[in-house]
Amino acid sequence: TRREREQQVVVEGRVVADFGREFLVELADKRQLVCTRKGKKQDAACGDFVEVKLTGSAQGSILRVGTRRNLLFRSDEWREKTLAANVDQVVILLAPKPAFSEAFLNLSLVACEAARIPVVIALNKSDLPEHAASLKSLALYSSIGYTVIAMSAKGDISALKPLLEGKLSLLVGQSGMGKSKTVNALVMTDVARVGELSASLGSGTQTTTFSRMYRLDRDTAIIDTPGFQSFGLFHLTEDQIGEAMREFRPFLGTCKFNDCAHRNEPGCAVIAAATAGKIKAERLSFYQVLLEQHRELHENH
Ligand code: GDP
Ligand code: ZN
Repeated sequence: TRREREQQVVVEGRVVADFGREFLVELADKRQLVCTRKGKKQDAACGDFVEVKLTGSAQGSILRVGTRRNLLFRSDEWREKTLAANVDQVVILLAPKPAFSEAFLNLSLVACEAARIPVVIALNKSDLPEHAASLKSLALYSSIGYTVIAMSAKGDISALKPLLEGKLSLLVGQSGMGKSKTVNALVMTDVARVGELSASLGSGTQTTTFSRMYRLDRDTAIIDTPGFQSFGLFHLTEDQIGEAMREFRPFLGTCKFNDCAHRNEPGCAVIAAATAGKIKAERLSFYQVLLEQHRELHENH
């Protein structure tokens, strides 16, 4: 590859879209290449800095993925697939109607905490009458330090826009929350055109877009995650899951047992904190259910 580099057929770029088997890589001169990843391993993610070998005028093959600042996974059955890398923050989009899932929110928070990525919780559809009660229910999350904002993709997104400024933000949400509408409100160009591009890739068979970066201005960008269902946590240890519950952290070192899983162990400082009202009971039971599912998954695979 040294010779190839000298002959300038190896270039550097950034992955701006993940179509499953193929990736779109943007070069410094804004040229975009449709790239494959050698050796079946699908270990490139949107946001990755990569080295690409040119194989055609608009085609390439990803040779190397650069060191990542962070990495998030999506779950695929019990397995995990890389979702996005090197992001500055994650925007979790929720709505009062259809009602968002508290489990989805909590699980997303665990994934982001474990990857040390800041989060914005955005409650969409502020024009709906159900919004106020829903926003109130999110007070728990602001009380443990998360940023919670209200917005309407249909009308006013001014609470969200300044928070994106100068950053690369990953947008996630369950279907129906208004993510497409939000992306369309943020991205001035026609997002539908991107669909045509992805449909025309590769062997001509229908491809899925798993993630796609849009530049909003020179130093602001978002990554949309069409079809996203859930973050993958399979790679995490039980300890990491406990530490990803941010309000548990002050108590973790004071449990009687070093390997305390905070389920029903005697002398558990986390359970004591929940009993004393310093940790919300809902968060503790979410954690306990998540840990149970995590154990089961690891026992079966
Ligand atoms: P996605 O599945 O998250 O991509 O959701 P969509 O963007 O397709 O939106 C789902 C539905 O919610 C659509 O009918 C939208 O028109 C509606 N919707 C999105 N944002 C808002 C909003 O701010 N207010 C209201 N009332 N409806 C919205
Ligand atoms: Zn404990």
